Amino acid sequence: MTDETIHDEVLRLAAEAAIDYRAQPAPGFEQVASFEQVLETLDACLPENPADPAEVIGELVSKMTPGLRPMTSPTFFGWVIGGSHPTGVAADWLTSAWGQNSGNVVITPAAAAAEQIVSTWLLELLGLPPTSSVGFVTGATIANFVALAAARGELLRRVGWDVERQGLYGAPVIEVLIGADAHATVYSALRYLGLGSERVKAIETDESGRMRPDSLRDAFQSIDGPAIVIAQAGQINTGACDPFTEICTIAHDHGAWVHVDGAFGLWAQASPRFRHLTQGVELADSWATDGHKWLQLPYDSGFAIVKDRAAHERCMSIEASYLPSAESSVREPSAYVPELSRRARGFAAWAMIRALGRSGIVEMVERHCDFAAALGRKCVSIPGVRIVAPIELNQLMLRFGESDEATLATVGEIRRRGRIVIGPALWRGEWIMRVSVCNFGTGPDQLPEVEREIAAAWNDVRSQLLDGPRDKAIAAS
Ligand SMILES: *Cc1c(COP(=O)(O)O)cnc(C)c1O
Repeated sequence: MTDETIHDEVLRLAAEAAIDYRAQPAPGFEQVASFEQVLETLDACLPENPADPAEVIGELVSKMTPGLRPMTSPTFFGWVIGGSHPTGVAADWLTSAWGQNSGNVVITPAAAAAEQIVSTWLLELLGLPPTSSVGFVTGATIANFVALAAARGELLRRVGWDVERQGLYGAPVIEVLIGADAHATVYSALRYLGLGSERVKAIETDESGRMRPDSLRDAFQSIDGPAIVIAQAGQINTGACDPFTEICTIAHDHGAWVHVDGAFGLWAQASPRFRHLTQGVELADSWATDGHKWLQLPYDSGFAIVKDRAAHERCMSIEASYLPSAESSVREPSAYVPELSRRARGFAAWAMIRALGRSGIVEMVERHCDFAAALGRKCVSIPGVRIVAPIELNQLMLRFGESDEATLATVGEIRRRGRIVIGPALWRGEWIMRVSVCNFGTGPDQLPEVEREIAAAWNDVRSQLLDGPRDKAIAAS
């Protein structure tokens, strides 16, 4: 075979293997091979000689498939993650095949054009100021990092300090005020930026994890310098969104910058039925959201959005003599992200939004929220099951038998049964079962099965707990 036919062959093999994988029923959570088991099948020695590419792809498929978690399945509720929609995956294959190093508008015009169009689409879908800038990053963690870098730079510029040139040594202090139930990755972003994860002032939250505006107002009484308020659309356990109108009013009265971590919750903005939850979010100064969660794009995809385009550009622009510079009015993809070389994430995002359309996205978001609410209604009628926080978005938290032991055992039993995937989480010091509804294929069709699995698992656990250790011993043997 010539090199060309070998190359054709590997691409076809990969496509076929991917199609086969997606056509097969998802394995149960615990049927998946462990890290050690997969490792055992892999030769640890560095390959000395070339191998046949088709065989390599075949080996990749046969050795890795047993260790793949069923994350694309419509009955996967383990984390708030999307399902890697086939349309996004197909566009992502092309992205890889086209091999565009997408940092520069002159060198990679198609990649830059796709990003530019998707930027305007996203701002419209999410109801954010239309002149905001959008950086195409790996996910919400880096989107938070980029947006907070813009905040840091702009706040210090206003007090006469150029952090991009001078760094942080000797700079005026920036106070960071953050809801007590913020996502762990926001603290990572603060760490990367030299703002420290422990210097923050935690703002009290309500029973659903929403920031309390009165506590924010109190915190500002002892602050008169630059400040960043980090709010949240979609608490990772409850789905709750902060009261943005009040938060933005208080923060802006003090000249502070408001950043919103909206990894998944920001998508409520797309829906006329759920937009009230994120009311006022457009008043913030920057936002982070994910493409690989509610938009269903394959990994990795996130968007860093900043109202002040110049602040965004100042913190992220990269210039080099060997790169042509575009007209200053043209959007340069690398000016909004930390990387220079990077995959052209705009292609998959363009295809996904083009394929779903606004109405498809709205329908999906609403279907997921309705699913969580309907499942909650079913579960409260099961004796011994309690809904832990009001269901507002796509997240449902359940507690079983009012005990950690019973709740964790029920999660374990569901995983052992292997038909659906649900995970545990700690909330206010207690273990809960968390159902995250975020897969494009999930809808009313799955509802009876999910309800049945939860009820059956709890039934087993309850009878074991009530019948005592004798039955437990039998069950364990
Ligand atoms: C998922 C999530 C993140 C982190 O996003 P990645 O895409 O994993 O980087 C941050 N904040 C919230 C609220 C999230 O749900």
